[in-house]
Amino acid sequence: MEHYVLMNVVKNEDKERGIAMEQIRSIVCAGNITPKACVRTYGCQQNVADSERIKGMLSQMGYDFTEQTEEADLILFNTCAVREHAELKVYGNVGALKSLKAAKPEMLIIMCGCMMQQETVQNQIREKYAHVDIVFGPSMIPQLPMMMAQVLTERSRVFTRLELPEIAEDLPIVRDDAHKAWVSVMYGCNNFCTYCIVPYVRGRERSRSSAEIIKEIEELVASGYRDITLLGQNVNSYGKDLEGEMDFADLLAAIDRIEGNFWIRFTTSHPKDCSIKLLDTMASCKKVCHQLQLPFQSGSNKILKDMNRHYTAESYYDLIKYARKVMPDVVVTSDVIVGFPGETEEDFQATLDLVNKVQFDNLYTFLYSKRTGTKAALAENQVEESVKKERFNRLLALQHPVCLAKNQEMEGKDYPVYVESVSKNDSKVLSGKTMGGKTVDFPGSADLIGQFCTVTVTKAKSWSLEGKIKE
Ligand code: SF4
Repeated sequence: MEHYVLMNVVKNEDKERGIAMEQIRSIVCAGNITPKACVRTYGCQQNVADSERIKGMLSQMGYDFTEQTEEADLILFNTCAVREHAELKVYGNVGALKSLKAAKPEMLIIMCGCMMQQETVQNQIREKYAHVDIVFGPSMIPQLPMMMAQVLTERSRVFTRLELPEIAEDLPIVRDDAHKAWVSVMYGCNNFCTYCIVPYVRGRERSRSSAEIIKEIEELVASGYRDITLLGQNVNSYGKDLEGEMDFADLLAAIDRIEGNFWIRFTTSHPKDCSIKLLDTMASCKKVCHQLQLPFQSGSNKILKDMNRHYTAESYYDLIKYARKVMPDVVVTSDVIVGFPGETEEDFQATLDLVNKVQFDNLYTFLYSKRTGTKAALAENQVEESVKKERFNRLLALQHPVCLAKNQEMEGKDYPVYVESVSKNDSKVLSGKTMGGKTVDFPGSADLIGQFCTVTVTKAKSWSLEGKIKE
């Protein structure tokens, strides 16, 4: 009978984590070996931020990092559950690790993230992927060392779907970038949009204390970070779960008062919680980027009701109009779902009408993907794939020319740019982001990376801009 354990929450977590990390280091670094870990992250920025904390703990346990699974002594997949094809990809990739494990039985294979919080998935992994050692959901990340110690000392497999209510602060962190940082301000979501699996896999909304967030950002700015993005499934409801805590607009204003030369961005907002106070605060704060990612999902009020979104196409448009009134240069992007159950041609026309009215700078477009466990997945009136695809193409045909036209309005003008990296296509060309979050490529020397400079836009393309540094 194969031996696995259902993990219990370890009390006295910080102390226990320190002990477990030392124990693991003594095992995996025996004989002065430096073990290698390969961490693969699927999905959203919140998963990227979670993986940075996972890498922080692995580094403290003595692991170095590799991108090659063949070189690794530990492989960890931080998974996503938002769309079906993301999950199918993970099953394929973890299946491919079986031969690696057979060749290296002491290797650790770990699966975590939103996909792994689902019972059906854990059962599938337990029964069909015997080469996987540890499986847990997003909130159990702080307990990773204790789970690894269990496996390494008892050679058992560890599975858990427990949800840790507290947020562990001060976990070690290995950031992917030296100048751009993700800072999670809250976890989970209480909105239960009927198509979305997130509330079932990331739990209820839990905000970090503003004191901890401000401390983290002060440290980041002091160590040279210039472009900081605040993360949350719905950042606009920050603080609502903490007695006496400030709301999101006040948090932004408090971060804006931190000394230093840096920019603040945030994602993701929800139109039902995006307040006039927030838009006014964005407009009055010097360091807050005028970049608004505000998913509208559908232009049909009937569909918005069925999605449990709690706003109308009209109230959404009023918000955008107000944002543009107080921030004329605001860059507005959004998410839209095509083919939600029950969507008629008339509903889809309403979506096209709103897209036409708003004139988004960019639109993240998705085909509705049935997620087991969500309310919409039970709906009988699912839309045919061919109809979804035909509508999807019409939506792209409407939006693409608008993206180009919006970028063409920027030609000949100067913009402050945060220099992110050398361009992927040409080492003599740099790539940066405007305050609006638009990508601009321009000739320049790599020692400008991590700095701000002023760029004159010379050429617009649909998804990016070309420019030259303004002397
Ligand atoms: S706001 Fe809605 S779509 Fe966004 S994470 Fe929450 S439930 Fe999902």
